Amino acid sequence: MIVLKSLSKDYGAKRKSVRALDDINLTINKGEIYGIIGHSGAGKSTLIRCINLLERPTQGTVEMDGVKLTELTVSELQEQRRKIGMIFQHFNLLTSATVFENIAFPLKLARKSSSEIEKRVSELLQLVGLADHRDKFPAQLSGGQKQRVGIARALANNPTVLLCDEATSALDPQTTNAILALLLDINQKLGLTIVLITHEMQVIRSICDRVAVIDGGRIVESGQVVDVFLNP
Ligand code: ADP
Ligand code: ADP
Repeated sequence: MIVLKSLSKDYGAKRKSVRALDDINLTINKGEIYGIIGHSGAGKSTLIRCINLLERPTQGTVEMDGVKLTELTVSELQEQRRKIGMIFQHFNLLTSATVFENIAFPLKLARKSSSEIEKRVSELLQLVGLADHRDKFPAQLSGGQKQRVGIARALANNPTVLLCDEATSALDPQTTNAILALLLDINQKLGLTIVLITHEMQVIRSICDRVAVIDGGRIVESGQVVDVFLNP
């Protein structure tokens, strides 16, 4: 479970600062797919980056499975971050590394042995449907395949939470649907909690359980997707 309490984020020096998040209160349950939607500049990226403390909140607390991330030391936070996977709009793959090496990267950082890495990467390649592409480089893959690598890499250390930052925004509608189906499958198979931010209502409608609408750094509406977006 993720609990955000009175979360605010200001960028810049005091007199000229921009309030990107303003008193966000949010509880995301274990195993749910939670969507955060808003226009460009609404504060979505800042919010998702505050959840794993890539961005340090100006005020408020972030709690994950009972641990207050905002109170941890740098090394404690590094340990907790293993429980959080993240995928990105532009995939953020290592361009000079193969599919295998990209997925192996977080396992190497976690000091796994090469036999453990081999086994885990093979499982992940199966899970995301890329078993035949392990020795290719990112430039040889389609956008959807690159995002599958991104997902496999994010799942490498068995996180309990997956954060998705506009993960389908660079993909065509058909590929978007395939990636959303994969995320849903992973959510059901692994019981993983998924938080996704997007500006596309269709993404929210197709896989989210609950949604928060963010505007000007504030949550202006939240609830079950069917209640928030009544009409097709
Ligand atoms: P979104 O992801 O919804 O497009 P962001 O979280 O990127 O919104 O931005 C929210 C607000 O914070 C915007 O006004 C943006 O210009 C500002 N902002 C975001 N990142 C920074 C930064 N590093 N420095 C200064 N202002 C920022
Ligand atoms: P996104 O595609 O996620 O909306 P943005 O274009 O909002 O990305 O931001 C890209 C990067 O630029 C982020 O790291 C964000 O923090 C930073 N950024 C966004 N707005 C500003 C700003 N007004 N001043 C400085 N940095 C910003």
